[in-house]
Amino acid sequence: MTLNLTPIASQFSSLEQALKHFFGYDRFRPGQQPIIEAALQDQDLLVIMPTGGGKSLCFQLPALLKSGLTVVVSPLIALMQDQVEALQDNGIGATFLNSSVSLTEVRQREADIFSGRVKLLYVAPERLLGERFLSLLDQIQAKVGIAAFAIDEAHCVSEWGHDFRPEYRQLRSLRDRYPDVPVLALTATATERVRQDIVRQLELRSPTIHIASFNRQNLYYDVRPKQKQSYGELLQQVRQTPGSGIIYCLSRRKVDELTYRLQRDGIEALSYHAGLGDKERSQNQTRFIRDDVRVMVATIAFGMGINKPDVRFVIHYDLPRNLEGYYQESGRAGRDGEASQCTLYFSYGDIKTVDFLIDQKPDPDEQQIARQQLRQVIDYAEGTDCRRRIQLAYFGESFIGNCGNCDNCLHPRPTEDWTVEAQKFLSCVARCRESFGMKYIIDVLRGSKDKRILKNGHDQLSTYGIGRDRSADAWKALGRSLLHQGLLEETPDGYSVLKLNAASWEVMRSQRTVEIVLPPRLGSQVEDVSQPKADAEMLFERLRSLRKAIADEQSVPPYVVFADSSLRLMAQKQPQTLKEFAKISGVGSHKRDRYGTRFTAEIRAFCEEQGIPLRSEDESDASEPAPSPDSPEGMISTTHLHTLDLHQQGLSPAEIAEQRNFRLSTIFDHLGILMEAGQRVDLDSLVSPERQAVIEEAIAITGPDSLRLIREHLGEAYSYPEIRLVRAAWRRSHLTDE
Ligand code: ADP
Ligand code: ZN
Repeated sequence: MTLNLTPIASQFSSLEQALKHFFGYDRFRPGQQPIIEAALQDQDLLVIMPTGGGKSLCFQLPALLKSGLTVVVSPLIALMQDQVEALQDNGIGATFLNSSVSLTEVRQREADIFSGRVKLLYVAPERLLGERFLSLLDQIQAKVGIAAFAIDEAHCVSEWGHDFRPEYRQLRSLRDRYPDVPVLALTATATERVRQDIVRQLELRSPTIHIASFNRQNLYYDVRPKQKQSYGELLQQVRQTPGSGIIYCLSRRKVDELTYRLQRDGIEALSYHAGLGDKERSQNQTRFIRDDVRVMVATIAFGMGINKPDVRFVIHYDLPRNLEGYYQESGRAGRDGEASQCTLYFSYGDIKTVDFLIDQKPDPDEQQIARQQLRQVIDYAEGTDCRRRIQLAYFGESFIGNCGNCDNCLHPRPTEDWTVEAQKFLSCVARCRESFGMKYIIDVLRGSKDKRILKNGHDQLSTYGIGRDRSADAWKALGRSLLHQGLLEETPDGYSVLKLNAASWEVMRSQRTVEIVLPPRLGSQVEDVSQPKADAEMLFERLRSLRKAIADEQSVPPYVVFADSSLRLMAQKQPQTLKEFAKISGVGSHKRDRYGTRFTAEIRAFCEEQGIPLRSEDESDASEPAPSPDSPEGMISTTHLHTLDLHQQGLSPAEIAEQRNFRLSTIFDHLGILMEAGQRVDLDSLVSPERQAVIEEAIAITGPDSLRLIREHLGEAYSYPEIRLVRAAWRRSHLTDE
């Protein structure tokens, strides 16, 4: 290990111990430990991990152990705030600087950096390279040192990636300015081309490259046929899968339609697409992240940069544009590693729609690439191999055997020998002189009286009408399968004229047989798992509501408080004491102090109801440090300070609520907490002095402890928020008087 560590690092005898202390996790995810070790050696690193693999920890833990400040470059403000909130909730000194932060606040944060309290600083690339910021960096380098630059979403540096940002290109100037500071680049993008580009553009110095497998083991993949009546199946699926989910559709109209139908059927669903105003979009997104609604119906505009780890299902109700897109979009499920479902509803009608969209593209090269990508999606959907194998093959990763966690592995579909039909089909192509597309060939096979056929004299061919025994859809399935199996070809010029190849002739000469997968049964069934709820499940639900309540109090998403996996462990192990609680994965020392009492109280209440004997704290070893009391100072976080900032800028609570997209009551809560903590809140602008006087009198009579009592004394004309504020002021003056 390098010598450049903070004093706290020496308290840990292993990296796992540090992991447990700061983040509460018991063990590293695959790849994390060697990456962290390399980072502690001050090496340059390129880390490629799929979404949900746990990239952030790879720079966060080293940042906490190394001396100096780690600067994290992140392209999206929402993502930044999210990560910083999650870190702060673990009691870790992290902050961000971007355009949403006021000048006063910027000063404060800079002071926190110089004092060494902040170990991780998140910035947007455009800010990082401004002169003002660079001179701040110089001062940081001189006073506390820069431990590393972590470049998140590093693929943004490459034009070959799907999200190129020119500002990223300039990041290489950091190399010149701070040649000794190691650079860590992180991305979920898989292609080789982009990897090379990152190394070159950021001038990484013989970087250690870690490529994690793109296999997301916790995701279950299935493909279902989409028909007119598929909505019922979708609804059933949404009802039977607990937790949050995303449903992707191709167009705004379809998004709105589906949202409407789901809402009508009692599902809490909201829309997200580019046609909505900025405000409505961000509101809907926040409500989804905070678990106020369960389902987001969206175009692919949704999801970039949202970081909700507990999405339990992602359904593509329309065809994705390409396989990489499908992998990334479906990959938004189960980032927390818990079992989750990815379903694709597939219909031939959708192919036509996408085909039509491709036709609209002006550039023929682009059209061709898009067609090829569409074909790969169809291959995936129609494929009979393990879905995981098909996806990973697309990323150049070979996956041997069956995964046991996809529809094809669990319910292999029967294949049938269709050699005779294939011979009919291919000879029809030959007799029509390889000059027509699939629809025409099928029309001839089925004996259509279409004018074009009659005019061409194709009703005279020996193959005319020999396929009446099969439906047009069956012939189409055969035709596509022949294409995918390479037994037939089509021109890539947009006309898709069918052409024969050597393999086609082998089929016609009976030198090889043709197997195809039967079009799947209509409405594939979902297993019914409606058993009575077990103990653990009941407790899980209760802990979920407690988590939601705590999250709302702090105006953060529920997963910031605890991940689903931690709640599930609590539900199973039922820790009744703080000592036991601290052993749960995901409970670090900070979260134990902050939430332990409330969660163990809920668990004890549950145990009591169930007749499970209670244990006392003394029954666990007494070596544990006592939790710190919940002082108001301790409860203040950036979210409160943000509210304070806006309040001090003269915004009314309603305006703050609107700007921050919070409920009004939350803003009043914030102001109350801030006031009790001695922050400068202008009470007179919130409650008139006359009303303050009346409320103070009431408090003098009833005492300050019960808001309900004070309200009963005052009557309906006084609201809880204003009572709470005045009480906060009363408490403050009362405490300082003593
Ligand atoms: P990525 O950036 O790679 O998409 P994140 O860093 O957001 O992934 O991590 C995904 C989730 O996994 C987060 O909820 C994170 O807290 C969790 N996580 C990371 N490392 C571990 C670990 N060692 N044990 C348990 N959970 C972890
Ligand atoms: Zn499989």
